Amino acid sequence: MIPFLDLKKINNAYRESFHDAIDSVLESGWLILGEQTKSFECNFANYCGSKFCVGVANGLDALHLALKAWGLGPGDEVIVPSNTYIATWLAVSFTGATVVPVEPELDSFNIDPKSIKDSITPNTKAIIAVHLYGHAANMAEIMDIAYEHGIKVLEDAAQAHGAMFNSTRVGNLADAAAFSFYPGKNLGALGDGGCITTNDQDLAEKLASLRNYGSQRKYHNEVIGVNSRLDELQSAFLNVKLPFLDSDNEHRQRIAAIYTKGLAGLKGVVLPFAAPYTNHVWHLYVIRHEQRDWLQNELVKKGVSTMIHYPVPPHLQPAYAHLGYKKSSFPISELIHNQVLSLPMGPTISFNEAEYVAESIRSILS
Ligand SMILES: *Cc1c(COP(=O)(O)O)cnc(C)c1O
Repeated sequence: MIPFLDLKKINNAYRESFHDAIDSVLESGWLILGEQTKSFECNFANYCGSKFCVGVANGLDALHLALKAWGLGPGDEVIVPSNTYIATWLAVSFTGATVVPVEPELDSFNIDPKSIKDSITPNTKAIIAVHLYGHAANMAEIMDIAYEHGIKVLEDAAQAHGAMFNSTRVGNLADAAAFSFYPGKNLGALGDGGCITTNDQDLAEKLASLRNYGSQRKYHNEVIGVNSRLDELQSAFLNVKLPFLDSDNEHRQRIAAIYTKGLAGLKGVVLPFAAPYTNHVWHLYVIRHEQRDWLQNELVKKGVSTMIHYPVPPHLQPAYAHLGYKKSSFPISELIHNQVLSLPMGPTISFNEAEYVAESIRSILS
């Protein structure tokens, strides 16, 4: 069976360095907010080209705390893509603000700047631009709209570590960016982790306080904060893996090229599109097919596991029933959710395996 993602294989490559990292954390005797986290924050900020990085417990907290630090709450509206992983929406809901979903572009799967304009009201305080599947959102147009209306932009870069818009890395394209280091992401820890990058010193300081009970100085609490910290062990593991992020992403790009070549011209299959402005890092390689579920089952028979990102859009989840959206409220998003299929992708899938996946799809469909 060709696995969709082989986390065991991915992390086994670092086994010895991980053991050294554990030893050095144990040796230091410092487990929370110490040198490892400080150095990872510095390394990751440098990698993104941003001035500051604040480590937190996970990607959802990264999104949530950034919105919190901007003071968002009840009565405020935040524009979000209608097709995204639900965490993007949850972060807004947790502040008490209202999600205002906007349809994506069908080809890039990312929020459509043209539709953002129609959704702006006097209550709009922020836009969350998700770089879905590793493809940067159209940040030039999004930032222009935001600037014109004086609203903040938060990147949800949880699926796009290392991706670029033109020659600027994600994480350095808006007022702030949220990353996740969930194990399956392009840069994954050995557990949960996340961070916010920004060039705004004031915001970085607020976030450093918010993640730590609203305190920068022990037992002095300026604001009502939470406990959401990237711990020393996860930071140490991430310090081990960060130097390999670019080569991992290049491997993903080679696998994507094999799929794109191997599936070219195949009737009924819509291949993923990479806009000229993005350096796509292929968190996921997502094709579309009208008989998606059937195709997925046929692939299982050939020993290929695939996944669906995502089967149910946020507006049709019970969690958001109170918003009153129905089937066909967001037709582009629903079409995407009904047709997408993610092929095996990751830094350890071999070129031969990718060829086999493409050949299998060809033989099923011809
Ligand atoms: C993974 C993910 C998140 C949430 O990250 P966690 O670390 O799992 O909390 C948020 N947004 C998107 C688009 C994601 O893919």
